[in-house]
Amino acid sequence: LENICKVYQMGDTEVRALDGVSLTIREGEMVSLMGPSGSGKSTLMNIIGCLDQPSSGSYRLVGREVAELGEWDQARLRNQEIGFVFQSFNLLPNLTALQNVELPLIYAGMSTAERHGLARQALTRIGLEHRIHHKPRELSGGQQQRVAIARALVNQPKLLLADEPTGNLDSKASVEILAIFQELHRRGMTIVMVTHEPDIANYTQRILRFRDGKLVADESNHQIMIDREGWPA
Ligand code: ATP
Ligand code: MG
Repeated sequence: LENICKVYQMGDTEVRALDGVSLTIREGEMVSLMGPSGSGKSTLMNIIGCLDQPSSGSYRLVGREVAELGEWDQARLRNQEIGFVFQSFNLLPNLTALQNVELPLIYAGMSTAERHGLARQALTRIGLEHRIHHKPRELSGGQQQRVAIARALVNQPKLLLADEPTGNLDSKASVEILAIFQELHRRGMTIVMVTHEPDIANYTQRILRFRDGKLVADESNHQIMIDREGWPA
């Protein structure tokens, strides 16, 4: 990202959500975004994920200038290269875990058998093979978030974006989610995560700090916490 600005027009007033942000995230990095409420973290995540456009500045994703791509190419980039995980899980309540995870594959135009196979694999990878027919309300918060992660991963994206993925979870469930992220990172996935909690940010190798829409610190973290105890079997 180079000199990214995002201005929202609210009637007569302007909200400058991002104000000249420049940064590079390299393939395979695991990065935390931190900063007070309203500092622009989610706005930046939406731009990185091609869910929103900056008002000015340049954003290149895997070498391509995103603003120069058409709607269709942007959607393809989003669906094939990027997985999203949110604080509120965003699962569809009337679908089972398996059906929720299958959703992105329906858009990819895959056969039912192929979809079942891949969704089942993704759920097994995060330790939920015994819960695939449960609906979200029949799962714990941590399990729901793991379903959301399986859904984000079922397309095998290169980049995982997680906006406060542990924001609604207790510390045990948070550690489980972090352990999954670390395992994905170890296998080469690029992960960008927003968090308010220093303990959670300590799981990542780099911490970017924001204030009032500006990047105010870019720190490498030498004290990465690896809690093998918390890793799912
Ligand atoms: P939090 O930690 O509370 O999630 P954040 O760092 O993610 O905060 P953003 O959601 O990126 O903050 O918001 C940055 C600023 O932009 C805020 O002042 C917010 O009110 C404003 N904002 C965000 N989205 C919109 C929108 N769609 N329209 C107008 N203003 C917006
Ligand atoms: Mg936010």
